Order: sequence, then C-alpha cells, then structure tokens
Amino acid sequence: MPSHNSSGDIDVFSGEMSDVDIQIITSGGLRIPAHSAILAAASTVLENILVRPGKRRSSERTIRILGVPCDAVSVFIRFLYSFKCTEEQMKRHGIHLLALSHVYLVPQLKQRCTKGLAERLTIENAVDMLQLARLCDAPNLYLKTMKFLSSNFKKVEETEGWKFLQHHDPWLELEILQFMDEAELRKKRTRRHKRELSLYLQLSEAMDCLEHICTEGCTSVGPLDKEPSIKRQPCSKFDTCQGLQLLIRHFATCKRRTNGGCLRCKRMWQILRLHASICDQPNDCQVPLCRQLKLKVQQKGDDELWKLLVRKVVSARAMSSLSLPKRKREEEPKMDLSHPQVMNFRLAA
Ligand SMILES: [Zn+2]
Ligand SMILES: [Zn+2]
Ligand SMILES: [Zn+2]
Repeated sequence: MPSHNSSGDIDVFSGEMSDVDIQIITSGGLRIPAHSAILAAASTVLENILVRPGKRRSSERTIRILGVPCDAVSVFIRFLYSFKCTEEQMKRHGIHLLALSHVYLVPQLKQRCTKGLAERLTIENAVDMLQLARLCDAPNLYLKTMKFLSSNFKKVEETEGWKFLQHHDPWLELEILQFMDEAELRKKRTRRHKRELSLYLQLSEAMDCLEHICTEGCTSVGPLDKEPSIKRQPCSKFDTCQGLQLLIRHFATCKRRTNGGCLRCKRMWQILRLHASICDQPNDCQVPLCRQLKLKVQQKGDDELWKLLVRKVVSARAMSSLSLPKRKREEEPKMDLSHPQVMNFRLAA
C-alpha cells in the first residue's frame, strides 16, 4: 500500500535521505522526496523540466504532478525507480498510470498499462477505456477495446458510458460503428476466402485422385494395363476419389458428351484440362489427353480466368502437400498414349 507518509516512501525508494534533491508535490498536498537523476533517466519529460532553469526562491526544488490521486503519483514515482508495479496497483491506478506514462513519456509503464488495462476490460468501463486509449495515444489498447466493444455491443449500448458518449462524443460513436461495420466486412471476406480456398483444395485433391486412378487405379476405375480383377481397397482420399470415379464412368459411357450439353461430361473435360494445365510431365503422364490438351494450350493459349484458376489450384496443392505425405511415384507403370482416348480407363464391372 502506498503511504501518505513521505518518510515511508523514502524507504521504498531505498534512497539515502541526503541524496534526495527534489520533492514531488501532488494534488492532495503529499510531498514525495526523490532523486532528480533517477527521474531524469526514466522520463525525458521530467528531464526537460529538471534542466529548465527555474525561478527558485529557496534551495528546495519541486515538481508538481497534479490532477491525479496522490496514491497514483506515488506508484508512478516508484515505477520510475524500479520499473515495477504490482497487479493490485495496476487494478487500482491503471487508468491514471496510463495517463502519467503518456504525459511523462515512460514507454515501459505505458506498455505495462496497455496490457494491464486490456485484461481488465468490462462492459461498464469499455467506453471510458476507448476514450482514454485515444487520449493517451495507446493504439494497442484502442484496438483491443474496439474489438471488445464490437463483440459485446448489445450490452455496452445499455451502459451509462455509451449514453454519455452519444451525447458528448458523436465522432467517437461514429468511429465505433464504422469499426464494427468493417469488422463485419472483414468476417465476410474471411468466410468467402475460406470457401474459395476449400474449392481450390477440392480441385487440387481431385488432381491427386485423377493421377492416382490413372496410375495405380482405385476401387472401380484403373489404367488399361492393370488388371481390374485385383480387389483394390478404398484410398485415403476416397470421398473425392469415388466421386471422380463415378464421373469417369459416366464420361466413358455418356452418349451426349459436351456437344450434347451434358454438364457432367463438361465437368470431366474441365478436370482433364486442369490436369493438363498443371501437369509437369506430359510425356510420361498416364492421364488421358494430357499431352494433347497441353499442346492445344501451347498453340492457342489460355484465357486469364483459367490461368488464375490454375494458379490458385497449384498453390492450394503446394499447401496441402506440405502437410500430406507425397504419393509414391516410383513404381508408376508406363502406358502407351499413342492412341489416347478417354477410354483408356478400364472400368471394373
Ligand atoms: Zn482412390
Ligand atoms: Zn455426360
Ligand atoms: Zn499429365
């Protein structure tokens, strides 16, 4: 507990009485003896005050720190000596300490207060805290309070602080509402981004499955040179793989095809085209039409939208390959693609 007795403070600062060369005077009339060298070292503002030639009538030098409770000043001065303050002191005087740290430029204390006050945000004090953070130029505290306010807005709206703010600081009210609006937008953007990312991840997985079906074969579709009689187990990406196998089976037997406007066939064409766009070994590739589609792109080029899609799938694939073990490619069987048709798939009965 800070003492109102000045000699008590001297003990705390562990200074020699004889070295004391300055008195801090507080609003409550408390005099706190201190060492100017220590004050000057901790605060450039105090340093400037100390070197300023004062109109000293007596030999006693004083600095007035007014407008905050004596106890808070006492804790502040103590901090300049030890760079420490307790949780209890933070709880009782955090707001005043932040103001003091701002006025007297003590970054260590400001940091401590920013953290301490952010931990003590409540529905009741949030509006005041926001005003204080703005006043004291504490951007971290400001941002944390804004976030707190927007996620508890329904309750904050009911407080006296909010009502006061509406009447006296409409600009800050506007700032809060704008922040909440943007936060909502940010959330929407993140959701959209996540949805897109999952689409690219799905496509990237479909690319993995296509290669796996065309080289190893899966439960119901495999390459021509592999016996379908071997009962294959579902692979690790079976959800995607099964869908793709169904699509391939459809593609191989559909009478309408793309010209006939079949959407499923169109989708299969897109998957084959996407594979051709990202495949880096078209000459050894087992995926039907890979080389042909690649050649076609080399001759005709791709449109920008397609290129963007390809880039996104490639990066999604790179990301997922960081977390998944690479499929073994060593024992890939070679398949002659001299007469490549989509019928290169062998469909299990
Ligand atoms: Zn599979
Ligand atoms: Zn079809
Ligand atoms: Zn390929």
